[in-house]
Amino acid sequence: MLTWRKEWIGPFDSTWSIFEKIRLVNSINETDLLSIINPEYKKRQRKYRNINTLIGFNLTELERQGVYLRVTLDSMERLKQIVNIPIYHVSVYHSHLVYCSQCLDNDYHSFLHQFKLINNCPFHLSDLIDKCEKCNKVIYVHNLSNNTPFCCSCGQSLKQSFDDPLWKKWGGEVHIKDDIVLSWLNKVGIMKS
Ligand SMILES: [Zn+2]
Ligand SMILES: [Zn+2]
Repeated sequence: MLTWRKEWIGPFDSTWSIFEKIRLVNSINETDLLSIINPEYKKRQRKYRNINTLIGFNLTELERQGVYLRVTLDSMERLKQIVNIPIYHVSVYHSHLVYCSQCLDNDYHSFLHQFKLINNCPFHLSDLIDKCEKCNKVIYVHNLSNNTPFCCSCGQSLKQSFDDPLWKKWGGEVHIKDDIVLSWLNKVGIMKS
């Protein structure tokens, strides 16, 4: 069984950050995690590695392990309604990591950072970062990484500070400062948690 508490998932948390937090508290790599949360997972099956769509992920098994993602996935689905295209050929979410360093320092990353119409952090209004600041490469979130959680594959930590214990801040309140993003969330009826 995974060590996990449902209150560690905060408002607007991204699936990537939820899985990185799970890896962190359980000290497990990608393969171990995928095997635990999906009994049918076989090594290197790529279809089981898309953490935007979670295609192939066994949500019932995840819930049995205490990880409830349905609110997160429902909110991500609702936000798509903002984009006025009837058929989605392209995902409205970046497949590479887009993040705010101030948020990550607070152990926080949101699917709002991944939404393609958002260029500034809705919580800090600062510019979003879409590359590793050390190796200058994009970090793909469609693969759960085998690295240390919250790190680029080059080894660079995406977080500047490591407070102990980390999970103290997880699931805490967040405040959206961007009025446009707030109006979108109201329009599509996304609840805070
Ligand atoms: Zn931020
Ligand atoms: Zn890097």
